[in-house]
Amino acid sequence: MTTRESADHWNTLADDELRWASYEEGRGHYGGVHRNRAEMFRKTARSLELEIETGKPHCTVCVGPHLNQHCPQAPHNRSRHG
Ligand SMILES: [Zn+2]
Repeated sequence: MTTRESADHWNTLADDELRWASYEEGRGHYGGVHRNRAEMFRKTARSLELEIETGKPHCTVCVGPHLNQHCPQAPHNRSRHG
């Protein structure tokens, strides 16, 4: 799978989650779990698109120009730095 195909795949997953959110909310249920997941998938897709555009890896947590393990916003890094 190319990076482009991966990005498309994550965007498709994000769209699915948004549909689920609308479905739940239409029934009077909480759709936030699906919306959070859609947001996460969208960031993953965006980080891959930026990698295509710039040739450099981008973070799926904050979409910045660094690898995930260097991200100050990643939960595991946050806990290590208190
Ligand atoms: Zn980051």
